[in-house]
Amino acid sequence: MKNKIGTLAAQIFEQTVAQRRHLHQHPELSFEEYQTSAFVRAELERLAIPYRSMANTGLVAEIVGDRPSGNVVALRADMDALPITEVAGRIYGSKHEGVMHACGHDAHTASLLGTAHILQSLKADFGGTVKLIFQPGEERLPGGASLMIKEGVLQNPAPQAVIGQHVMPLIPVGKVGFRAGKYMASTDELYVTVRGKGGHGAQPQQNIDPVVIAAHIITALQQVVSRIADPKMPTVLSIGKVVANGATNVIPNEVYMEGTFRTFDEKWRKEAHAQMKKIASGIAESMGGTCDFEVRVGYPFLVNEEQLTARVREYAVEFLGEEHVVDLDLWLAGEDFAYYSQVADACFYRLGTGNEAKGITAAVHTPTFDIDEQALAISTGLMAYIALRQLGN
Ligand SMILES: [Zn+2]
Ligand SMILES: [Zn+2]
Repeated sequence: MKNKIGTLAAQIFEQTVAQRRHLHQHPELSFEEYQTSAFVRAELERLAIPYRSMANTGLVAEIVGDRPSGNVVALRADMDALPITEVAGRIYGSKHEGVMHACGHDAHTASLLGTAHILQSLKADFGGTVKLIFQPGEERLPGGASLMIKEGVLQNPAPQAVIGQHVMPLIPVGKVGFRAGKYMASTDELYVTVRGKGGHGAQPQQNIDPVVIAAHIITALQQVVSRIADPKMPTVLSIGKVVANGATNVIPNEVYMEGTFRTFDEKWRKEAHAQMKKIASGIAESMGGTCDFEVRVGYPFLVNEEQLTARVREYAVEFLGEEHVVDLDLWLAGEDFAYYSQVADACFYRLGTGNEAKGITAAVHTPTFDIDEQALAISTGLMAYIALRQLGN
């Protein structure tokens, strides 16, 4: 089986690269993946794989092996791009002004199409059902995964496992990375408005200075991380935007701030939201001002089910060799695959796409991000192999 998959993966490699480049040249923003969705549908039709539409631009396809088995596994790719202008001069650079596949979702989609091709070619050799999830809107709330789940992507039939992969430039091409248990953080957005009473900078006694209040709030909010959070619970609170539109001699009426809160526990997450609001409004009121503290709840934390992840890691070792499988640290970025992990046994692993020798080191979400396409020589076959092993073949 392993050899058959390897041969098929090698046969389709150039096609997978061409598909990735096509998608890279035609990126679409979250929930606007119309051309991308049409491209995936055309390829599924060419492969004679049945599918249905979901969540507007999303798709779920199904490959049922010929041998009898009731087992089901779901494989997921995300399809959306980011509002970033790609660095100029690339032969397969974005043709859509201001939009770029800077998170590798082009590679995920092309790779899952390659996996579909391999599995469809091997239908006679395996038992079980593979669901292929092509989802929209990973990069934007409420997250395409949550919509797909609401529309029943994990039902009829329900998979025993959901598996996803994501490019990672920090891992050298040729390798993949795993972490069992909690892996990525819940992500909440903070929108804070501190109101006071503006006036002349020389007459603070007649005003209520929201700048000073905001400064106290920014500092005091770190109490949540350093004094209220359990030291064993990774927690991040960052205020990344502060707008006080006064002048050297003008105290403004209000200060506007934005930030992010991230952690790995739902109960603590809710408690922290309440604590942040209490601290901010308490400080504002004690200084004569007010504070609107809005928490826009984002993705939950992503947990890789321990036993499933141990098994999938082992399948990766079988397919690639122990020296090509690495272990990962916690990662406080967010990822909407987390929604699958909250309702099903899930495993989200990392595909190495970096290559220092070729200068491919840029981080995701930057204009110079790229992947070493040799990663696509591994990713299609690896996912096919993992799927078949997980199905008991
Ligand atoms: Zn991203
Ligand atoms: Zn991503």
